[in-house]
Amino acid sequence: MTARTFQATNPATGQPLAPAFPVTTPQEMEALVAAARGAARAFAASTPTQRADFLNAAAAAIEARADAFVEAAMAEAGLPEPRLRGEVGRTANQLRLFAGVAADGSWVDARIDHADPARKPPKPDVRSLRVPLGPVAVFGASNFPLAFSVAGGDTASALAAGCPVVVKAHPAHPATSKLAAEAIRAAAQQCGLPAGVFGIVYEDGHELGVQLVQHPDIHAVGFTGSRAGGLALVAAAQAREVPIPVYAEMSSVNPSVFTAAALEANGAALAKGLAASISGSGGQLCTQPGLLFVPVGEAGDAFLNDVAAKLDATPACTLLTGGILNAFQKGAAGHLKAAGVQPLTQGAKPDSGAQPQLLSVPIAQFTPELADEVFGPLSVAVRYDRLEEVTPLLAGLEGQLTATLHATDAELDGLADLLHVMGTRAGRLVLNGFPTGVEVGHAMVHGGPFPATSDGGASTSVGSRAITRFARLRAYQDFPDRALPPELQEANPYGIWRLVDGERTR
Ligand code: NAP
Repeated sequence: MTARTFQATNPATGQPLAPAFPVTTPQEMEALVAAARGAARAFAASTPTQRADFLNAAAAAIEARADAFVEAAMAEAGLPEPRLRGEVGRTANQLRLFAGVAADGSWVDARIDHADPARKPPKPDVRSLRVPLGPVAVFGASNFPLAFSVAGGDTASALAAGCPVVVKAHPAHPATSKLAAEAIRAAAQQCGLPAGVFGIVYEDGHELGVQLVQHPDIHAVGFTGSRAGGLALVAAAQAREVPIPVYAEMSSVNPSVFTAAALEANGAALAKGLAASISGSGGQLCTQPGLLFVPVGEAGDAFLNDVAAKLDATPACTLLTGGILNAFQKGAAGHLKAAGVQPLTQGAKPDSGAQPQLLSVPIAQFTPELADEVFGPLSVAVRYDRLEEVTPLLAGLEGQLTATLHATDAELDGLADLLHVMGTRAGRLVLNGFPTGVEVGHAMVHGGPFPATSDGGASTSVGSRAITRFARLRAYQDFPDRALPPELQEANPYGIWRLVDGERTR
């Protein structure tokens, strides 16, 4: 029997791209998961140095394929070359960040409470650490074909934790996905790790993805994409006999509040920065500022007119897929129909891609639907009279990845209530900046209350803390030293930071 195939589409031309990709069969997926299960024990027991070497080798293998990546992703995602070159660097840096975390080894949060037989009742010896969950599934995102896809942050953090990964490639960029898979496999081979530490499945539908999430040997899921997709995977994971966590990063409109004083002090620069933040990468960033709070009056008018002019001067964007373009056009039309909404930009030009759009609505006519994500280059400006009106409206918003305040230094102390409410709604607060750049580092939080993420903002999908999503806690009581994992042995052979009898020591 010939395998069913699918083809990606070049979003710029609408033409199908060669080659056709065979859809992974259920038997092939079963073999990949079995290999992951087979590799899990040895991978979990690998030393910090072995895991770090693997991730560093994967970073080098990604960089070695940079030209091929850029060529494939330009055709499959319609993103410009400089953006994709940057993404290659970001992907390699993420892998190296997690190599550092793995090498340091302290992320396991080892704790030792020594026994005290003299205490009444006697105190046992209790030691604990984080251990990898076992094989996990990762769903590649469409909007970062490298950095949030096959070799992206979810995969890097799971591998650093010692979990084999099976990726469901995003069907919009199979050739880019295949290159990333080859890079990771080559790195595993170079480091003498079993092939089962990494597998990939291809499918242009949902059947295999759901089967993967429901496979008894899969222990957690990482996902970035739509709210509908994320919730479908959460439901699939909950319907298992043994439910598993799904770390889904879904939708966010990233509210940005501008005070009149900030606009008077710095309006022109803010307009330039905001227009770029709304329309960069075709607005297809989870941190795109889709909801603005702008004061009524001269400073607010001038500012929004300036942003609108800059967006009108921006060429129409090629969106990642035909589906995303349709959803954008439908979402924009829906917002435009809402009572009180006025377009400030000229709007779509016939036969163009997605023309960046700025809409405006008086705060009295704001409805929660205007805070629904329209993925792409569109933003809604809510015009307010007094900042006190903005706080309750922000408090009623759904959870967000980010919330931004543009205010002068002199105003800041008087805005504690507003900042408090922003903090209850978002995972990252930005002051006098734009939310779109998500720095990869130790301190970054890329998460937030539902529906920004499915776990209520308890974790982050960017930055080194992402590793803890793929581990669980395990304690050992009264074990002899030789039977403990190295991280918990008295001699501390890996030299990691530990909490010993309540004191942080190395
Ligand atoms: P998506 O539709 O959520 O798809 C992401 C992945 O999940 C794909 O592999 C998809 O497979 C799979 N999937 C979707 N629904 C599923 C279901 N019910 N059961 C099993 N698997 C499912 O996201 P997308 O294609 O990247 O973009 C579509 C929309 O997602 C955008 O318009 C935007 O609203 C949102 N999005 C958000 C972010 C973000 O950063 N939060 C990023 C990208 C996209 P198929 O493609 O075969 O359906």
